[in-house]
Amino acid sequence: MQLTNRRKVVSDKKQTVMEQLYLPGLLKGMLITGSHLFKKRATVDYPDEKRPIAPIYRGLHVLKRDDNGAERCTSCGMCAVACPAEAITMESGERKKGEEHLYREEKYAKIYEINMLRCIFCGLCEEACPKEAIFLTDRLVDAEYERDDFIYGKDKLVEKMDQRIDVTKRQTPEVLEFKKIKGLKHNELHDPKKLKDKH
Ligand code: SF4
Ligand code: SF4
Repeated sequence: MQLTNRRKVVSDKKQTVMEQLYLPGLLKGMLITGSHLFKKRATVDYPDEKRPIAPIYRGLHVLKRDDNGAERCTSCGMCAVACPAEAITMESGERKKGEEHLYREEKYAKIYEINMLRCIFCGLCEEACPKEAIFLTDRLVDAEYERDDFIYGKDKLVEKMDQRIDVTKRQTPEVLEFKKIKGLKHNELHDPKKLKDKH
């Protein structure tokens, strides 16, 4: 079965003397290389120079904290189930007394990892999260030399207290609308009656 029309018949004809010298081929190659010196560069000097990106660019994830600084993630696993690349793994922990300032709910993610080599940055984890805990951002995943270094744990994913990340630009109008209603729990979002009562 022919899949493309790019088939090329390989010739085994004998090389001419000129071809055996390789000089014409060498000169042709140098001319092509030289001509690129005068063309506009296709690359940029990243990270000093960055290309403009779309406002809804899906890059490196962040695990958000709430307004008081407690981690929003409750280790429900919805993001992992939604992930088509099976890039997310987690282990749950139970919040102890006195840890209310660290974790917003009684269950939290003791371990939360995303394998950035598997991730296809589709954003489905963000959509699946009922706690508004995970968002993709406009940040890039760093280049690494070792495969293990692409497994991002909580140390890289949870936002720092002194470096909060604004994700409001990426939130859907529905989420922004939902946030205006104080005291509404996430599982009430799709109950039109409760939604109406709270308004
Ligand atoms: S962006 Fe897509 S592929 Fe990446 S972790 Fe989230 S759901 Fe998985
Ligand atoms: S990030 Fe959201 S969906 Fe994923 S485990 Fe945490 S709360 Fe659940």
